[in-house]
Amino acid sequence: AEMRQDRIKKTKTVCTYCGVGCSFEVWTKSRDILKVEPSPEAPANQISTCVKGKFGWDFVNSGQRLTKPLIRDGAEFREATWEEAYRLIAMNFKETLEKRGPERLAFITSSKCTNEESYLMQKLARAVIGTNNVDNCSRYCQSPATMGLWRTVGYGGDSGSITDIASAELIIGIGTNTAEAHPVIATRVKSAQKLHGSKLLVSDLRKHELAERADMFIRPNPASDLVWLNAVTKYIIDNNWQDQQFIDEHVNHYDELVNSLEKYTLDYAVQHTGLTKEELIRVATMIHEAKSTVIMWAMGITQQRGGSDASTAISNLLLVTGNYMKPGAGAYPLRGHNNVQGASDMGSMPDHLPGYQKITDEEAMAKFSNAWGVKLNPNKGQNNHQMVDAMHSGELDLLYLKGEDMGIVDSNINHVRAGFEKLKFMVVQDIFFSKTCEYADVVLPASPSFEKTGTFSNTERRIQRLNQVFEPLEGSKPDWVIIQDIANHLGAGWNYTHPSQIMDEIAALTPIYAGVSYDRLDGFNSLQWPVHADGTDTPLLFTEGFPFDDKKARLFPVDWTPPTEYGEEYDIHVNNGRLLEHFHEGNMTYKVAGLKSETPETFLEVSHELAAERGIEDGTLVRLQSPYGKVDVKTIVTDRVFDKEVYLPMNDSGDAAINLLSSSIADKNTSTPAYKETKAKLMILERGGR
Ligand code: SF4
Repeated sequence: AEMRQDRIKKTKTVCTYCGVGCSFEVWTKSRDILKVEPSPEAPANQISTCVKGKFGWDFVNSGQRLTKPLIRDGAEFREATWEEAYRLIAMNFKETLEKRGPERLAFITSSKCTNEESYLMQKLARAVIGTNNVDNCSRYCQSPATMGLWRTVGYGGDSGSITDIASAELIIGIGTNTAEAHPVIATRVKSAQKLHGSKLLVSDLRKHELAERADMFIRPNPASDLVWLNAVTKYIIDNNWQDQQFIDEHVNHYDELVNSLEKYTLDYAVQHTGLTKEELIRVATMIHEAKSTVIMWAMGITQQRGGSDASTAISNLLLVTGNYMKPGAGAYPLRGHNNVQGASDMGSMPDHLPGYQKITDEEAMAKFSNAWGVKLNPNKGQNNHQMVDAMHSGELDLLYLKGEDMGIVDSNINHVRAGFEKLKFMVVQDIFFSKTCEYADVVLPASPSFEKTGTFSNTERRIQRLNQVFEPLEGSKPDWVIIQDIANHLGAGWNYTHPSQIMDEIAALTPIYAGVSYDRLDGFNSLQWPVHADGTDTPLLFTEGFPFDDKKARLFPVDWTPPTEYGEEYDIHVNNGRLLEHFHEGNMTYKVAGLKSETPETFLEVSHELAAERGIEDGTLVRLQSPYGKVDVKTIVTDRVFDKEVYLPMNDSGDAAINLLSSSIADKNTSTPAYKETKAKLMILERGGR
């Protein structure tokens, strides 16, 4: 038995899937994964995980892993050596840079990669190439939430920890399918209801699991959330239920907010949200009666044309009711990917250096310029969305895309793919040959989280270390190694030999990561930013005040942007989102046999009303047609959706991919696509059950 124990290795790592950031030990024997064992010491999850964290790892050993660089050869690809691929990449980077200038190159990092890797990606763009054209996929999901928080409370992060969500008297979830998208947080919410009587209020189009369990469930019209949020805020003020002491001490622009709410009467809200007066009053009353309220929200809010304004309205409501600066209260945008918080923290954004230091801040620019030994380009770069426009207009020649299946996950993918075809050169780095790889000139085989050392930052701003479980699969390399190799083929002379050295550089240049080091993150230790130089961290984000000069938060008046107009024939609202057992498009989870068998293919949820009207049954094959594309899919008739609202999960990377239908219309402040405003017409292709 001793011998056997000897050969079993236990490694602490962090989940690669959602933003909860579960950590656990993985038991392995050579490349076999024996089990995943969460620990009471795990700061975000203790002994919980969901089915993906527990069983979702066989993809690491999938025979479909990329193990050789691929170079385009006409319509095909041929295998190449790393050196040949690097030379071709360097030649194209240099040629574009010299002949066309740095603004013709663009860089996209992955929210699945480590902080160290996202840091290097933006360093490559800024210090080696000289462009701010760098972004990450929070553009597709969370940028509007971050904007709403920057405007009002100054930091774009969750106000406290997951434990704070669970200790609130009132938990509000808006546009978050928490039980499937952030399962361990949903578990905490359910036990808060049971153990200390927290009330749960859910607002969504779809009656998902947490909606079923809510004390109150409201179902406003699509993209009308800002209206009910503003109306509830106004009703609270009209009844003198605001927290006047908190407002006087900690908040600016109260009068401006009050004036801006004038039109948001209950009647106006009833007209535009479809909610009743009684429902609106009950929501306001629940907030008034609770001593502490948290609001969690996700893509149901952010992926609207007015997503950043709706996120701002959430923060305004919390400020007016004094629900910041205390435990069990505050704003909780639930970050989607495991490291979506970190990719933004690391400055993989066109207008921010690491730690949200602005490129317009001369002092910050000088600091990075000195550290990197180069002059930095002060011009704002392009975000992901603008990059697609620039491909079409011929203003972008080269794209280096790391771990992002942009040809599936961006909105209006027929348009995105047509943009790829206009590029002169495209490098895609991934663990599998994704749909996006089909458009590449060079494909580079990367390593997944189990084969890497680094850090991830979860939804509660918690920085955790992942340790290498396996050596990289032969032929693949960790992303940080590949980026450094490319930089060095361009003459950068970087010499990082371990990711901890990259973190030391990040800490030296990034005030909110100042005290982060690998030593302080040993084992299950973690730190929540801002982390001061002495290593003290910040579980509760706002204690003394808000990070503005006068320490006061700022109420920020916002007005409603009605949803995108479609022609009358597009009468079906196509809601979309995740499934529990698959992560997004399923590039990883469909390579895990046990998860694949749970939901082998996608489906369309249809309401009983629509089914009766059109003669739809379980298994009817229907076509959804939007102005941008079509999807053929089989139906399930369910009581989770209502009327002409249908639900198409995003777990398909083929002909039923939701983003064949979605548009290029985006939030006006952040360019986040309005995925949740997709409409289509529905035709029946084939009747008959399954
Ligand atoms: Fe935890 Fe999320 Fe991973 Fe599930 S997917 S184990 S909830 S981090």
